[in-house]
Amino acid sequence: MSNQLSDRVNNLAISATLAMAAKARELKAEGKDIIGLSLGEPDFNTPDYIKDAAIKAVNDNYNSYSPVDGYVELKEAIITKFKRDNNLTYTQAQVVVSTGAKQSLYNVAQVILNKGDEVILPCPYWVSYSDIVQLAEGVPVEVPTSIENNFKMTPEQLEAAITPKTKMLWYSSPCNPTGSIYSKEELRALADVLQKYPQIIVVSDEIYEHINYGVTAHFSMAEFPDMYDRTVTVNGVAKAFAMTGWRIGYIGAPSYIARACNKLQGQVTSGANCIAQRAVITALVEPVSRISFMVDTFKERRKLILGLIKEIPGFVCNEPEGAFYVFPNVTAYFGKTLNGTKINDSTDVSMYLLEHANVATVAGDSFGNNNCIRISYAASEAQITEALTRIKKALEV
Ligand code: PMP
Ligand code: GLU
Repeated sequence: MSNQLSDRVNNLAISATLAMAAKARELKAEGKDIIGLSLGEPDFNTPDYIKDAAIKAVNDNYNSYSPVDGYVELKEAIITKFKRDNNLTYTQAQVVVSTGAKQSLYNVAQVILNKGDEVILPCPYWVSYSDIVQLAEGVPVEVPTSIENNFKMTPEQLEAAITPKTKMLWYSSPCNPTGSIYSKEELRALADVLQKYPQIIVVSDEIYEHINYGVTAHFSMAEFPDMYDRTVTVNGVAKAFAMTGWRIGYIGAPSYIARACNKLQGQVTSGANCIAQRAVITALVEPVSRISFMVDTFKERRKLILGLIKEIPGFVCNEPEGAFYVFPNVTAYFGKTLNGTKINDSTDVSMYLLEHANVATVAGDSFGNNNCIRISYAASEAQITEALTRIKKALEV
């Protein structure tokens, strides 16, 4: 039978992070000793105080549909969190809880973009941005950044990318995959450019907010009073609270955008999982200090991996200020033949490392930068050391 699938899905790329994780799982099941450094997923268990809240919710019979945009108590916890951590004041009408920050981002694209609207993506960007934009018939406009500028877009680059069709600017800070963080001053300089273009909405993805190593303080674009009414602040619990599988993300946004996301979500998924929502209330109202042990551990691992990367000839890496990835430039290997494999791009390097080092990474190509690969250091020190030793050896041939 011929392919009856929609153009929409035929044109959609498979999520490279999830595809590599699936491939690594498959190889492991075949008995291969794969070290998975592809997926951005903390290797910690969800803390007990959060699990206890979920168990209580089960026993308290939270089994019915929740409001589409989330329980009132969770929205209140999110409002408290935004005030406490970001100095942002939102009302319940401005908050929508979704099934992961991924759905939050998807909703926003669907409710803002019309066909042909352009979205500026400083790249490298997180894999799904470009496809989420295209699913909403938007046009991703990639703005390449450089390692010299710590992979941050300059105001000049932003201005040059803006056209009459520009509808949005999307970025993550801390950034997946580079770990870069925009300082308050850098965001102000971007905001100054945006003042000339009032039609542009900013999507500020802050899911790695708490995974910050203290070099640059976190700042939310919406904290600037002149940006508040045109910024959607996206966040979630997956990363900092080790809750990837619980699937809760949320936005703080102008109320007309929140209302539209609520309407869309009501036709697509309804409210997010009720038990997970109850657990997230506890996650958000408890002091952030309760999760700082994970950030401290990531900090140690970051030091370790940066040291090991320096020992690999040709790998050039910025120093991530947040998140848990390194994004080394691997172009030194392009044009070489290793173990009979011709290496031409980041996918070749990543696949070569999977085959010859048994280490799963993600090609930078899917993040909009074909010169780098992404390596997650959300893994034990022993795994990181073994993986990087194997990578070095596999590239020595
Ligand atoms: N934004 C970024 C930058 C991410 O790395 C991720 C990773 N999953 C998400 C959004 C989506 O988060 P969630 O798991 O809550 O859907
Ligand atoms: N955000 C994580 C990553 O970049 C999880 C995978 C995904 O949702 O794509 O690896």
